[in-house]
Amino acid sequence: EEANNEKESPYISSILPGWFSEISPLWPGEAHSLKVEKILFQGKSDYQNVMVFQSSTYGKVLILDGVIQLTERDECAYQEMITHLPLCSIPNPRKVLVIGGGDGGVLREVSRHSSVEQMDICEIDKMVIDVSKQFFPNVAIGYEDPRVKLHVGDGVAFLKNVPEGTYDAVIVDSSDPIGPAQELFEKPFFESVARALRPGGVICTQAESIWLHMHIIEDIVANCRQIFKGSVNYAWTTVPTYPSGVIGFMVCSTEGPAVDFKNPINPIDADDSHTKTRGPLKFYNSEIHSASFCLPSFAKRVIESK
Ligand code: SAM
Repeated sequence: EEANNEKESPYISSILPGWFSEISPLWPGEAHSLKVEKILFQGKSDYQNVMVFQSSTYGKVLILDGVIQLTERDECAYQEMITHLPLCSIPNPRKVLVIGGGDGGVLREVSRHSSVEQMDICEIDKMVIDVSKQFFPNVAIGYEDPRVKLHVGDGVAFLKNVPEGTYDAVIVDSSDPIGPAQELFEKPFFESVARALRPGGVICTQAESIWLHMHIIEDIVANCRQIFKGSVNYAWTTVPTYPSGVIGFMVCSTEGPAVDFKNPINPIDADDSHTKTRGPLKFYNSEIHSASFCLPSFAKRVIESK
């Protein structure tokens, strides 16, 4: 009898039809849901399932293998932070490499920095690039900058061929460590990033949620402490459509001129030559930059002990 009642409860059975629920072993026992107005694209690339739908409250949504990558409404909180945390912490960044980031949003943000001369991007999946250009023009606008050089391929392989000391900054805008992005969370990858950076160069990499993935974060921090001899920091931001509503970044520098990430020296707030075409910054400012390194006690204990 009871089991039957459970089945018929409107709170359970009525949620699913017409809603996208993000179910994954990376966040067992919970699933954020968005109401779907219309499915706009569904395809299967060599690497993953790709879907775009119109949601009722977050604009268009890009899904890879069932996991939300971005929504039009909150992508600014992620793209602006993953880009400006590293680039506003060093003087005159000139050469920047983006790994992943096929939607073009990180490129859009890098292009706000007038000191940048070269923006390389290595995205593994051409379908992500094409779909973003078709459905997310305000994100894919990053590709329109003439400083961009696009490489379609595996970021791990790409980095192996980069001459030592090439980049001022490497931004790793990856998906989660299940699927094609798995190696982007492993030690050999971080070693090749460190090699590709100049002395005092910086890396910012997507580093999951303090609420869900402390075990993954612990490993990343431990690896980074061995590899990045300048400084190793964890920062975080809010992204309502990511599981648990927050996402973190590892922000590190190589040995060389010291980088004090908590006190940005290259502010972008007043000097953004691209405001006209890209729109103003929606999320990032110097105060939120410094604040993003403040951690809740439970996370601070673990991260500082590594
Ligand atoms: N920019 C994002 C946002 O606003 O939240 C979302 C993440 S982005 C779409 C992640 C990209 O990393 C995907 O397009 C995926 O194809 C790419 N990727 C995964 N593994 C990769 C690899 N090994 N090399 C290069 N790119 C990879």
